Amino acid sequence: MRVAIAGAGLAGLSCAKYLAQAGHIPLVYEARDVLGGKVAAWKDEDGDWYETGLHIFFGAYPNMLQLFHELGIEDRLQWKSHSMIFNQPEEPGTYSRFDFPDLPAPLNGVAAILSNNDMLTWPEKVSFGLGLVPAMLRGQPYVEDCDQQSWTEWLRAHNIPERVNDEVFIAMSKALNFIGPNEISSTVLLTALNRFLQEKNGSKMAFLDGAPPERLCEPIVEYIRSCGGEVYLESPLREINLKPDGSVDSFTIGGKKGGELKNIKADAYVSALPVDLFKLLVPNEWKEMEIFKKLKGLIGVPVINIHLWFDRKLTDIDHLLFSRSPLLSVYADMSITCKEYEDPDKSMLELVFAPAKDWISRSDDDIIKATMGELEKLFPMHFLGENQAKLRKYKVVKTPRSVYKAVPGCQQLRPSQRTPISNFFLTGDYTMQRYLASMEGAVLSGKLCSVAIDKSKDSIFQNNSEVETSGAEL
Ligand SMILES: Cc1cc2nc3c(=O)[nH]c(=O)nc-3n(C[C@H](O)[C@H](O)[C@H](O)COP(=O)(O)OP(=O)(O)OC[C@H]3O[C@@H](n4cnc5c(N)ncnc54)[C@H](O)[C@@H]3O)c2cc1C
Repeated sequence: MRVAIAGAGLAGLSCAKYLAQAGHIPLVYEARDVLGGKVAAWKDEDGDWYETGLHIFFGAYPNMLQLFHELGIEDRLQWKSHSMIFNQPEEPGTYSRFDFPDLPAPLNGVAAILSNNDMLTWPEKVSFGLGLVPAMLRGQPYVEDCDQQSWTEWLRAHNIPERVNDEVFIAMSKALNFIGPNEISSTVLLTALNRFLQEKNGSKMAFLDGAPPERLCEPIVEYIRSCGGEVYLESPLREINLKPDGSVDSFTIGGKKGGELKNIKADAYVSALPVDLFKLLVPNEWKEMEIFKKLKGLIGVPVINIHLWFDRKLTDIDHLLFSRSPLLSVYADMSITCKEYEDPDKSMLELVFAPAKDWISRSDDDIIKATMGELEKLFPMHFLGENQAKLRKYKVVKTPRSVYKAVPGCQQLRPSQRTPISNFFLTGDYTMQRYLASMEGAVLSGKLCSVAIDKSKDSIFQNNSEVETSGAEL
């Protein structure tokens, strides 16, 4: 089958890869001139990379790791020590660590939590541990049921002190969905904790060894092309054209920079667009269908990714750091953590600025000034007193609508990859799969979408030929 896919983020590329593997011909149309969507990156005038987001790969990403394995690029993942490292706001310039020993899960997680005495007291650890028991015993169905509560409500319902939020979970929920624990659905935190505690290497983290478009997306495109598929850049989907029976007749593609519009015909069609942009293209005839109506409740959350190049090394930590700053989420010194960005003498900090709703429309200068204020607290030895570190240059990348905001009640709004339209499918991190809005979720959704298309091939052919026959009779 020829399958037209709009969007070359990880979901669209994964869908195309697995369709190609199953013997189909995927044709991917990407609006921008760069692959990767939310993992897109660019080079500045000095040849330095800057990215849409600081991206971490986890041990609990089986589909992503399988994809690296299938592409023969596993050596591009730079695994770090099995730890989680938090800044300590009350003791500027110091860190608190959760180190996972080499024990089976969940013992390694329990040992990591019990051996950290900087952040939680013993009674807090015990009440939190007891609260997690139902999630660990009853698994995903319990976790899904908790989608009606925010994380703060869930903690209260389990008599877990508010301080646990302040110490650990403000940082975790900002890292997972760029919002705070009062807003985030408890399903998100419980899903992450379940994966981290139940899989020995679940919370182990890796950085890619370079920029995602080149180091991850390009090999997927090469695979797609080697199987006869194609990926076209600067080819936005403009309209989904329907047949009289409501199924898809063609995609109107193109028209960028005065280019021509083309009608692309295929056997099946896929949207791999972010949910906010897909909603704008849903044909009027589909708008009242439950699956598309529900998408109204899925809305991208703003986030800002900041790159700061300094004249010296600020840290020697080869890992992701949880800033625990009110304005910032996680950060890393990419000159240490990522091979291609390596610099032995100078730091390049990549920081996620979140929650960003009050900052997304502010100027880059304002955002950098606020970030530097936070860095004074994280690195007082470099930013206070004499001989301060100098900022050589910066880049700010704003994403006003990033992953969908995972507030309570969203789980039941997420669509399946199969839709009621016989030849139209959805993929994207927001579609239903067990890994929330993440790179793993995007790759898994693409795989599930390819399976749904492959399974539907007989009915797609039958439907297409019936419509053609009735068209001929008319
Ligand atoms: C700052 C930040 C940090 C993150 N950190 C992590 C992390 O550490 N770990 C993790 O697992 N996840 C992280 N994520 C989330 C992860 O990046 C996303 O979940 C994932 O990349 C989404 O992939 P997707 O294919 O579903 O969507 P997208 O990447 O949004 O892809 C959609 C594609 O569709 C294209 N498109 C849009 N309109 C059209 C059109 N009309 N026609 C054709 N194409 C179109 C877009 O250009 C894009 O390429 C982070 C995200 C951000 C923003």
